[in-house]
Amino acid sequence: MKLATFDVGGTVRVGLVSEDETTIQLIAATDMLDVITRWDALSGSLAAGGEGVPLSSVKLLAPIPHPRRNIICVGKNYRDHAKEFAQSGFEAGAVAGAEIDTHPAVFSKPASTVVGPDAVVETHPGVTDAIDYEVELALVIGRGGRGIKAADAFKHIFGYTIVNDVTARDIQKNHKQWFLGKSLDTFCPMGPWITTADAVDAENLDVKTWVNGELRQDANTRDLIFTIPSLIETISAGMTLEPGDIIATGTPSGVGIGFKPPRFLKAGDVVKLSISGIGELTNRFV
Ligand code: MG
Repeated sequence: MKLATFDVGGTVRVGLVSEDETTIQLIAATDMLDVITRWDALSGSLAAGGEGVPLSSVKLLAPIPHPRRNIICVGKNYRDHAKEFAQSGFEAGAVAGAEIDTHPAVFSKPASTVVGPDAVVETHPGVTDAIDYEVELALVIGRGGRGIKAADAFKHIFGYTIVNDVTARDIQKNHKQWFLGKSLDTFCPMGPWITTADAVDAENLDVKTWVNGELRQDANTRDLIFTIPSLIETISAGMTLEPGDIIATGTPSGVGIGFKPPRFLKAGDVVKLSISGIGELTNRFV
């Protein structure tokens, strides 16, 4: 099932998107977190179907527009991207021959960065001139927990969405720690909705990015260095994951700094991301 948060007439609601993605059926819930926490009771009634309104008549928002906590992100989780990043000159402290990490790089973006489908992304002139895109499969935690073992990890995932881990490469490099360069306002487009975990094989999804119609990233989640179960085991080892937490699993090669010279985003650019089984997420940079 595909579950979306949307604005209709100034009111934020949650709905079930039809299989053919033409209509959306209102769900009696306060927000997506309410849906996630009451899913076992809600899902049965939704499966029975109901009246929907045209999807084109509502404005989709990020599926979780205001996450309660930071977006948890994984860096350098595809081999070719780890190499392009190290070779780009934009990785502070890069060591030749040590591009592939032995432990996943985990960082975060503040919840305040989240914007939805078709929202504009600011280019922040005067603050950065090195903005890059990163398509990523994002996990949405359903059942929280600490010390989750890899074998049990999928039981804790409610569903999946798409995140663009927009990054100011100059800030990322200059400040050593990645947080600031990842955290400018509007730097986390998310959507178009959450596809529930039962509907996809998360370890075999095509992940793509187009910039102004040109294909830049084209990979598959089967190539993740640190797998989804291992990420959940690692992250939850000493930190309790909560329902609604979002974990972005890393981006493949083909980002702007992978080109020589780098191809950074500028005002007017349109970035479209797609992940098979989930959908598309398009944002214009202004
Ligand atoms: Mg990233």
